[in-house]
Amino acid sequence: MKNSSFHRRSTALLSAIAVSCFTAAPLSPVLAHEGEDQKHSHGTAASGSVMDAWKTAQQSLKGIETAAAAKEHAPIHDEQEKLAGALKQIQEQNGATGADKTRLDGAIKNAVTASEKVHTAADEKDFAKVDSSLKTLQATMGLLEKQLNPAAK
Ligand SMILES: [Zn+2]
Repeated sequence: MKNSSFHRRSTALLSAIAVSCFTAAPLSPVLAHEGEDQKHSHGTAASGSVMDAWKTAQQSLKGIETAAAAKEHAPIHDEQEKLAGALKQIQEQNGATGADKTRLDGAIKNAVTASEKVHTAADEKDFAKVDSSLKTLQATMGLLEKQLNPAAK
């Protein structure tokens, strides 16, 4: 149960970061896409919602990569929040059970934790740390993709 208490702490930390960023960061055009994402997931089957959420997560990862390459910290705030939201949606809506669910939950937690580190580094404007944390995030997203797509295992 060490893992779940760690997860609670990191979720609380993420919320604190999200709140502080929301007040600090200017509204970005990126936010306009959120309504679109909700529209896509409305009324669709669970697997469709999960795949939409996965697409959102991948787009957010690309946004983070672009922002990191440009050494712009502001877009990373919004993109990481979108990424974490999409990953949470995948965790809630995937139909996995048993050992598959355990593996998928673990992969999602790892990706969320890695994205938080990228976000924290961006808040500190430490782009060396953004780059190294981003590599971990890319690796965890790759592992998560394999969990979501059993054919690719
Ligand atoms: Zn931030």
